[in-house]
Amino acid sequence: RLEIRNLTRRFEGKTVVNDVSLSILPGNVTCLLGPSGCGKSTTLRMIAGVDMQDSGTIHVDGRLICDTITRVPPERRSIGLMFQDFALFPHLSVGDNVAFGLKGPKAAQRERVMQLLGRVGLGGYVDNWPHELSGGEQQRVALARALAPRPRVMLMDEPFSGLDNRLRDGIRDETLALLKEEGTSVLLVTHEPEEAMRMADEIALMRDGRIVQRGAPYNIYNAPVDKAAVAFFSDIN
Ligand code: ATP
Ligand code: MG
Repeated sequence: RLEIRNLTRRFEGKTVVNDVSLSILPGNVTCLLGPSGCGKSTTLRMIAGVDMQDSGTIHVDGRLICDTITRVPPERRSIGLMFQDFALFPHLSVGDNVAFGLKGPKAAQRERVMQLLGRVGLGGYVDNWPHELSGGEQQRVALARALAPRPRVMLMDEPFSGLDNRLRDGIRDETLALLKEEGTSVLLVTHEPEEAMRMADEIALMRDGRIVQRGAPYNIYNAPVDKAAVAFFSDIN
């Protein structure tokens, strides 16, 4: 469970994230939607621990990971990341990429790697190099790598935008199923209304650093709070 309360971030006097609160249950997906520059990636960066809020708190499964005094380092937050340009390590095999964040006995690591690669349909590719895989296959390896250490929270910033339409639907559905199975709390940033409608348990609309509306996708779609939200959903057919 991810819980952020009253998160605020200023850059040079400008408030870029303004009193943002969100709570995401295990196995649930919240989609963060909003125009370019409204503060989505900054919010994710603070949760990941690569940027520091000016005020507010972040908890994962009830454990305080960040306030203005406490600051758990990124690698100890139990948070996985998947970004558009989050490339595989080219000098490591597919299997070693997935094993990268794992600790403990090699046999157990190997078992987890094979479980996840099998789950994304790439069990036969463990000893291949990343460049021998298609873009969609690499994306699935990146998903397996992000999930390997069993993060409680997954942050995704337009993870599917590098894929062509043909591949995207399948990988979206696979990703969603796997995240649900693992019981991960997911915060997903997207510019695609269909992706939000398809993947979200809850949608949060962001404007100028603030959450202006939150609710089930169907409710937001039917009763959008402002003109920008109407426009956003208008090209869904
Ligand atoms: P996009 O949809 O284009 O990715 P976004 O919602 O992710 O946009 P952010 O990247 O969070 O937007 O940026 C929000 C605002 O904060 C922007 O005006 C940006 O210029 C500003 N900003 C972000 N990081 C910094 C920084 N390190 N220093 C100064 N300003 C920053
Ligand atoms: Mg962004």
